[in-house]
Amino acid sequence: MEFRFVVDSMLGKLARWLRILGYSTIYDPKLNDDGLIEKGKEGWILLTSDEELSGRAFRDGVKVIKIEHGDITSQLIQVFKTLNLTPKPEEARCSLCNGLLVEIDIDEAEKKGYNIPPTVQTVWKCVECGHLYWKGSHWDNINRVVREINSRLVRSDS
Ligand SMILES: [Zn+2]
Repeated sequence: MEFRFVVDSMLGKLARWLRILGYSTIYDPKLNDDGLIEKGKEGWILLTSDEELSGRAFRDGVKVIKIEHGDITSQLIQVFKTLNLTPKPEEARCSLCNGLLVEIDIDEAEKKGYNIPPTVQTVWKCVECGHLYWKGSHWDNINRVVREINSRLVRSDS
């Protein structure tokens, strides 16, 4: 089964991180409660910190996780633990628009005027919005979060 998410407008950071960690995630602040429930009925798992909305989703038979307040790592762990998932940054999606990423030639990126550091070996492009990604300084931060999530997921099993 493929897990995919729809996230309410308060949880934009969680949406970006779920995309970075390989999970397809709808984040559209224009979606109201009706719109979010509708997506839930289409099979997207609803993530919300709103008590009322999560109660309503539950009554409507929508799969919903009521996200507890806390830092981003705790929120991610709550989602992964509830559904028994793990981070998969190797399947990252575009953090801006949820588009799929495809590998492109570094030459192509440089021709478009991007300044790619010489140590970079792979560049990915979002098929939807065209944004480019490579393992730059932000990558250390992603790795750190992934390590912390993995260690806390393991610890909770024992
Ligand atoms: Zn994109």
